[in-house]
Amino acid sequence: MASEFIPAAKPIIGEAEREAVDRVLRSGMIAQGPEVAAFEREFADHFAEGRPTVAVNSGTSGLHLGLLAAGVGPGDEVIVPSFTFAATGNAVALTGASPVFADIEPDTFTLDPASVRAAITPRTTAIMPVHLYGHPFLADEIAALAAEHGLAVYEDAAQAHGASWRGRPVGALGDFAMFSLYPTKNMTSGEGGMVVCADEDLARRVRLLRNQGMERQYENEVVGFNARMTDIHAAIGRVQLGRVDAWTAARRRNAAALDAGLRGIAGVAVPRVREGAVHVYHQYTIRVPASERDRIRGALKEEHGVGSGVYYPIPNHRLPSLARFAPGVELPETERAAAEVLSLPVHPSLGEPDIERIVAAVAAVSRAGA
Ligand SMILES: *Cc1c(COP(=O)(O)O)cnc(C)c1O
Repeated sequence: MASEFIPAAKPIIGEAEREAVDRVLRSGMIAQGPEVAAFEREFADHFAEGRPTVAVNSGTSGLHLGLLAAGVGPGDEVIVPSFTFAATGNAVALTGASPVFADIEPDTFTLDPASVRAAITPRTTAIMPVHLYGHPFLADEIAALAAEHGLAVYEDAAQAHGASWRGRPVGALGDFAMFSLYPTKNMTSGEGGMVVCADEDLARRVRLLRNQGMERQYENEVVGFNARMTDIHAAIGRVQLGRVDAWTAARRRNAAALDAGLRGIAGVAVPRVREGAVHVYHQYTIRVPASERDRIRGALKEEHGVGSGVYYPIPNHRLPSLARFAPGVELPETERAAAEVLSLPVHPSLGEPDIERIVAAVAAVSRAGA
């Protein structure tokens, strides 16, 4: 193969990130400190209308602590999608509450409000939708349902830094939101997460849970975790924050070029974007016939040097870990998506020739199967 392999994802770490880490290491103070505090403020201003924001050691910790801080616990039901990374349902289960799985709507791969409505019981206390692939969930419909039934809304914004819905940024659409800073996400701190809270009371409870239940040293108020972010990680994240808007613009440009190239190829459905949504393309996800997907994926890699991903092949309500929460649950759109989706490279390191190669490869392997 003449050309270089195009990976499905590629974190960008530059000289500025290395210098920032070095600066913290030289300071001799590497645990949570001034870098984390600055990162929290800057992140909140950048993404979440300045809401109170708490940095933690992973996105999963962020969901878990956010739920606990909001009072979710045993006996509660929280409605989540099944078509997501398992961390969404895991975080609910870890509180002692039950994740209740609802179906997605096929255009955006996000929670279907009609399915959410059907899943509401007297024990439901909240809805936690996911801005999957960087497309915002249908926030108005979900907010209306929540208001009608007195439910809270928590956002899993792990994949959606900078996305918005009708002019409102994701992260400011619910009672709290979690952003992941894992290396393959739209920006990274190495590992890490941000919890954006609607009010200072909630943020204070997340802060307590993050640090052994202490606000003042050795005066532990509640039973808590060590879920702190280090200043080393925050220093990386602060540099990335200055670069993420350009990366998002590149993802959106790449997605538009993929749309233009792939539209019209028989058997390929390009991703749809709802009116009013700003999609940040954490993933660029097409649908192909279920019976063809494995062959297409293999041929892209072996014959054309193009990586791809399947997010996610097994719906969460059928995972050995979470199936006990979903006896008899059937989610047809989730099953169909799990069988048909294929995510193509869209990351900001790609140039026009890469996009042309990806388009040509998909065209060639689709024809080969027709
Ligand atoms: C990545 C991800 C998480 C978890 O974040 P981590 O930082 O990896 O713990 C949760 N939900 C979704 C949808 C994710 O993509």
